[in-house]
Amino acid sequence: MLFSQLFLTTLKDAPKDAILKSHKYLVRGGFIQQMGSGIYNFLPLGKKLLDKVRYIVKEEMDSVGAQEVLMGFVTPAELWRESGRYEKYGDELLRFTDRKENEFVLGPTHEEVVTQMVKNSVKSYKQLPLHLYQIHTKFRDEMRPRFGLMRGREFIMKDGYSFHASSEDLDREFDVMEQTYKRILTRMGVTYKIVEADSGAIGGSGSKEFMVLAPCGEDTIVVCEHCDYGANIEVGKRAHRSAPRAHEVRYDSNAPQGDFARFFTPNIKDMQALSDFFKVDRFYLIKAIVKKARHINGSAELVYFFVRGDDDGEETKMLNAINAHQACYIALEEASIEDIGQAGLEAGFIGPYALRHITHAKHIYFDESLKDAQHLICGANEKDWHFVGVNLGEFEGLVYADLVQVKEGDLCHKCGGKLYYTKGIEVGHIFKLGTKYSYALNAQFLDKNGKAQDFIMGCYGFGISRILPAILEQKSDELGCVWSKEVSVFDIVIIISNIKDKAQSEFAYRIYNELKAHGVDVLLDERDERFGVKMKDFELVGFNYALIVGKGLENGQLELIRREGLVKTELEAANVCERIIHLIKE
Ligand code: ATP
Ligand code: MG
Repeated sequence: MLFSQLFLTTLKDAPKDAILKSHKYLVRGGFIQQMGSGIYNFLPLGKKLLDKVRYIVKEEMDSVGAQEVLMGFVTPAELWRESGRYEKYGDELLRFTDRKENEFVLGPTHEEVVTQMVKNSVKSYKQLPLHLYQIHTKFRDEMRPRFGLMRGREFIMKDGYSFHASSEDLDREFDVMEQTYKRILTRMGVTYKIVEADSGAIGGSGSKEFMVLAPCGEDTIVVCEHCDYGANIEVGKRAHRSAPRAHEVRYDSNAPQGDFARFFTPNIKDMQALSDFFKVDRFYLIKAIVKKARHINGSAELVYFFVRGDDDGEETKMLNAINAHQACYIALEEASIEDIGQAGLEAGFIGPYALRHITHAKHIYFDESLKDAQHLICGANEKDWHFVGVNLGEFEGLVYADLVQVKEGDLCHKCGGKLYYTKGIEVGHIFKLGTKYSYALNAQFLDKNGKAQDFIMGCYGFGISRILPAILEQKSDELGCVWSKEVSVFDIVIIISNIKDKAQSEFAYRIYNELKAHGVDVLLDERDERFGVKMKDFELVGFNYALIVGKGLENGQLELIRREGLVKTELEAANVCERIIHLIKE
């Protein structure tokens, strides 16, 4: 390709709202163009990158027997009603009607559609297992579309769905997919971590996320410094805590001794004040968290969680706790002081004593680290009063669950090593769905004994468009984009330093044609532009190599610059093609 013919305009300035370097470079480098909030056009170089990502993903998926299909982007609302997600998915689901008042949604994910597809054609266990995937547009009306392609509203995903006759076979496929994603990400040239994850609105049991590690990542992940344990903070686990965190101890790290008693604690409303008042470490206090749980039918009720005074509640875990038996709550919202007052409670003095009696609450949970704990201090459900010497082991029928956010310095539940936080960009997510969708949509097959069974399903998402900014967040430098070997715009750009110099031009065209003949993806920068301009474009757009054809040619010398690290090498003009082909193919 000749640079002068390329539909590419690089920009000096980044969009005003661009915070991340990947967003700035993708726009400045002429890869994408914004059309609306969270909606982008892909220009030729952006499309080329997408195609490379698509090619790798397709090659790896096909190699393990998955088959590509294409499903309708516009989906009848009826299917979403059948699965129960029409209401449950919330505001991210774009719902609309056609001229005949038929209702539709723009697909944010395709479990319903694919289940319908398979239901219509698979009748027997002999046709299983089956894995179908597509690489297609999705629409999610994200609350805060931002960071360019990282969180779009319209974006491209690879979504795969597998169907099995047994859960053992699903487990096998889940492992195959984990290995497949590992190969995909290695080929993309990024450093990543596989972490345990929540299953969110899609539902299901086991779930793992593939995180490209980068400081800008929106996900906090909990990682063990010792073993390979990693989890999204939403579901991160830790070893049982029996003492305050050593680095946080303010008072005695031992439990305060004392008999059960009611204490006057005027205006002592938060954990720090309470800790200072009694000179007791926050570990021995019970913190009450009151939330308003929004029911799928629109109603809301107060729910109560108790954790140790030096822990914080993790919203995903708290929501999962109230949904443990019947998943019908879609969100936890803040409870106001008025809400709490109306329930007969006094904010700042809430405790477990007589709580159910006072509030008639259905949902009251205690964090696992409080299990049978003694010598605690908690609110007395009366203004300005607390109880000391509380022993939770004496209560009957308390419900314990994992409710808290793991903190740095907590210990790994697998090996006892220290846990720390790091940031990741979620580029892939694999789930074991089980029979959630097949049951809802009545999709069954006949097993060996001729008995009808619900399909056992898995689903596997990969962010085709999101991986581009993820690569850049990890690899780009202060000058512009750095791509990877397999996800790149051109293997090499040949820069003619001075196009008025006939020898330079002739030589460059000759090399260009020769490289092209050898299948090298080569760009010839033959524009009538200053050398500096051409170099800036090379750095910003991030061609993998630049071959500079300049003054040195007179002495048979050329300069080769590798974009990653801007490493320079002198080449002999005589065997330049061989050297380049060798470098690129190696
Ligand atoms: P997130 O937590 O980032 O909102 P998600 O958990 O909702 O993502 P999934 O439903 O697991 O996403 O979708 C599978 C993959 O699709 C994600 O791992 C991610 O790579 C990609 N993806 C999801 N939402 C977006 C988006 N708004 N823009 C770009 N890619 C996205
Ligand atoms: Mg996800």
